[in-house]
Amino acid sequence: MSPALSLDDLKRTLGPGGLVTGAGLRAYARDSWPQALGWSEAQISAHLPWAAMRPSNEEEAAAALAWAATRGVALVPRGAGSGVLGACVPVREGSVVLDATRLLDFELRADSSEPVVRVGAGWLGGDLERRLDALGWSLMNFPQSLEDSTAGGWIATDAFGQLSTRYGGVRAQVRGVRVAGLNGAVRAEAAGPHLGAEGTLGALTEVTLRVRPKPASRRFYAYEFPGPEPALAWAREAMAKNGPPSVLRLYGPVDAFFNGLKRSGAGSPAGALRSRVEALLLKRTDWLNALTPLLGEKWLAVAVYEDEAPFLDAAPPPAREAADLGEGPASRWWARRYHLSKERLERTFAAGGFVDTADFWAPLELMPGLDAAVRAALRPHALAFSHLSHFDAAGACLYVTFAGSGGGERHARAWTAALSAGAAAGASVNHHHGIGLGKLSWIQNAWDAPRLAAWRAHKLARDPHGLLNPGKICP
Ligand SMILES: Cc1cc2nc3c(=O)[nH]c(=O)nc-3n(C[C@H](O)[C@H](O)[C@H](O)COP(=O)(O)OP(=O)(O)OC[C@H]3O[C@@H](n4cnc5c(N)ncnc54)[C@H](O)[C@@H]3O)c2cc1C
Repeated sequence: MSPALSLDDLKRTLGPGGLVTGAGLRAYARDSWPQALGWSEAQISAHLPWAAMRPSNEEEAAAALAWAATRGVALVPRGAGSGVLGACVPVREGSVVLDATRLLDFELRADSSEPVVRVGAGWLGGDLERRLDALGWSLMNFPQSLEDSTAGGWIATDAFGQLSTRYGGVRAQVRGVRVAGLNGAVRAEAAGPHLGAEGTLGALTEVTLRVRPKPASRRFYAYEFPGPEPALAWAREAMAKNGPPSVLRLYGPVDAFFNGLKRSGAGSPAGALRSRVEALLLKRTDWLNALTPLLGEKWLAVAVYEDEAPFLDAAPPPAREAADLGEGPASRWWARRYHLSKERLERTFAAGGFVDTADFWAPLELMPGLDAAVRAALRPHALAFSHLSHFDAAGACLYVTFAGSGGGERHARAWTAALSAGAAAGASVNHHHGIGLGKLSWIQNAWDAPRLAAWRAHKLARDPHGLLNPGKICP
């Protein structure tokens, strides 16, 4: 870092409250990447930025970028820090973080042929939904991290909400962005290059998203199948027959059990106690793995349909071998759909365990083999369970949760085993979590060659000296 840098220099650029230094920087050293949640103090210190800037409007954001450019300082854009792969972890000494959470403009344009909302990139999803809800609208974009993630973060990670089977990911809902560049200008752009670019091409200051009227009703369905193949055959039919349901999820027996989808009214102990019990159990994942066959082979399908045409028809009837479980499992899933929070993850790590998730995309025909291969690879390291969600025209996301204990090395071995097995079974190792640091060495699997070439061309044009979130996407 240039010795000419000083805090006064930065303070002149940003208004009061716009700069974080000292102890406040600890919060910017990591995000919700599970491997970083287990970091030692030394590891946290190694990733502390030099300062964090909190612009409150577009002009301040642009000035912050120009300041970084003229001084050759690395700048890491950041939303709410809910990313699970270390995408906003500073890796270059002397970096500054641009915290977008004070960018909070709001303009609803409900009278156009396609209603949209134009929002500052720092809006938290939950706050934004409540504001829209009061006006009779919704984004229909509900990531599980809704309360902990921002509109800008959604674009930068190419996020997917839980209703994506019908509405698509955020890429299907975004209508444009405004971006502050290193030249100190803010300009309106198509979102395309920024989707999944993880802040490497500029700082998003504003996002325009499609809004929809809130659905008036929801219907819940659940069926149990003898195994993954008949469940997948039914899912294909459900996707084709009446138009896609908003939610379509197929649970393996262990995931259905741990998510309590087949049990009603299960009380659970308070958070801290539950985390300690879980951490104790996770010391013996070999026992837990040996017990999981007791849960049987059956797969559970849950579907949620919303009222709008052409979805007025009921869900397609299940195949003959399936059992109709009524509304219960799907409405239980709906009620608990946000129950895994960043805070809950942190408690598990504090109690000595680890829990992580790996998201894959693959065509449906590969799914049974892919699922079996990833879980088998994880077995020596962790307890693993899985479900399929985010169905699209060609495939779906296989979402594998794995948990264990034994510290960072065991956790890292489990992670590598899961991704290696997924790639070998023909999957893309990313669906919606992004790349960050956790999947950096897998970028050529996750992004195809044309996408990487397009990113490189944008990077060269906008950031030839590699100042924007260095060490991400392409090291
Ligand atoms: C419990 C839990 C559940 C989750 N569920 C989902 C889910 O259902 N679907 C899903 O897709 N993801 C999910 N995630 C992952 C995460 O919430 C998403 O990746 C989210 O989009 C990140 O938003 P953020 O504001 O927290 O971004 P951050 O974590 O702050 O940043 C993520 C990346 O975006 C970049 N970035 C952030 N803001 C800007 C900006 N203004 N300009 C330029 N770049 C920026 C950062 O540099 C970084 O590279 C979950 C995470 C947790 C912890």
